[in-house]
Amino acid sequence: MSHIFPRHCKSEFPKAVGGDGCFLIDENGKRYFDGSGGAAVSCLGHSNQRIIQAIKDQAETLAYAHTGFFTSEPAEQLAELLVSHAPGDLDRVYLVSGGSEAVEAALKLARQFHIENGEPDRKHVIARRQSYHGNTLGALAAGGNAWRRQQFAPLLIDVSHIAPCYEYAERSANESPEEYGMRVANELEEEILRLGADNVMAFLAEPVVGATLGAVPSVEGYFKRIREICDQYGVLLILDEVMCGMGRTGHLFACDAEEIAPDILCIAKGLGAGYQPIGAMLCSSKIYEAVASGTGFFQHGHTYLGHPIAAAVGCAVLNEMLDHDLIAQVQKRGAFLQDQLIQKFGNHRYIGDIRGRGLFRGLEIVEDRDTKAPFDPGLGLAGKLKKAAFAEGLACYPMPGTRDGHVGDHILLAPPFIATESELEDAVESLVRAVDTVI
Ligand code: PLP
Repeated sequence: MSHIFPRHCKSEFPKAVGGDGCFLIDENGKRYFDGSGGAAVSCLGHSNQRIIQAIKDQAETLAYAHTGFFTSEPAEQLAELLVSHAPGDLDRVYLVSGGSEAVEAALKLARQFHIENGEPDRKHVIARRQSYHGNTLGALAAGGNAWRRQQFAPLLIDVSHIAPCYEYAERSANESPEEYGMRVANELEEEILRLGADNVMAFLAEPVVGATLGAVPSVEGYFKRIREICDQYGVLLILDEVMCGMGRTGHLFACDAEEIAPDILCIAKGLGAGYQPIGAMLCSSKIYEAVASGTGFFQHGHTYLGHPIAAAVGCAVLNEMLDHDLIAQVQKRGAFLQDQLIQKFGNHRYIGDIRGRGLFRGLEIVEDRDTKAPFDPGLGLAGKLKKAAFAEGLACYPMPGTRDGHVGDHILLAPPFIATESELEDAVESLVRAVDTVI
């Protein structure tokens, strides 16, 4: 009998015993193509020798040194590497152990920045509906997914949620994509004015929305307008690239595609590629200087901040991507994957939209392609699709609640950057069989 408290108490999962390139292997020897990298984590597959060696080397040199006493070589190197490629004037790196921790740190730093800056009234956070920023209480409060928030609502801080930029479902027929983008971006200005311009501390958004919408980028111009509004009202722009960052969309930083830079940026998942739990919050020199020249310390911290083995893995992952030009490969293989999806699902009766960037792709499932009407949520399609794909030897990431946290379904694909064209082709074939079995 297991003593593990599992994610799902009524489902039994196979035991994973090995990893080989893009495949996971269970105790019966069955192989699963890792079509979503777990949740967009395993970007280098499961047996990268450089990363494995980096773990061994660092463990033999220095396993742990508390950041309240020491800095460490891998942490210094990782910060330098990240900053040398980071957008705008992001200049300081706060190393944490995952995505939720990165978002918590970002929210607290935004608040402390305004206090250091003599604007203590700035306390409101604005985020978007149908976003996911993590499961700790601050990050959960910032997220705009009704289903995830529901039972914890009494514990959550008050956060405003404006519309996402979700063209497929929410652009009206009489709007151009640009007009739609301006309309929803301007909701930020309306909300800032409603709350009082001097009371808002930050706006938080994912450049490409992952788990809750299924790889949805914004329309052109949206994020430029968002940046403009934040600048006009002194509101910090926090971008959450925990899922879409670190090369996943064909850019090392997802916001590079938008030609804007945030004040604070959160990354995780692909930074450790699944070999170590690591995340990071990057901030601009202006924010860092306000703290450094003010109280002199960020009132935050965790025991495992800047863990040397995790940081060594972060360095090895980034160097592996840069040395092998994997970001360019993501663009090429991403275009190939999109092409395969369009060939196999472009005319599928129940697939309404195929979208995404790089190796971050989403399929939205609808009952009626003309009206875009979703299926009855009572059918539990997402869960059934996950099971059917698994039976086909494909691990992918279907989610319910695409439209509003309750109705709608999508499938998220985020395969490793090292996936070959033939592996991607096979994965799409498996997905076709899974979809046809379930619907
Ligand atoms: N932010 C985004 C955009 C995410 O997708 C996730 C996780 O899926 C998180 C934050 C939270 O990250 P973690 O699960 O590592 O805490």
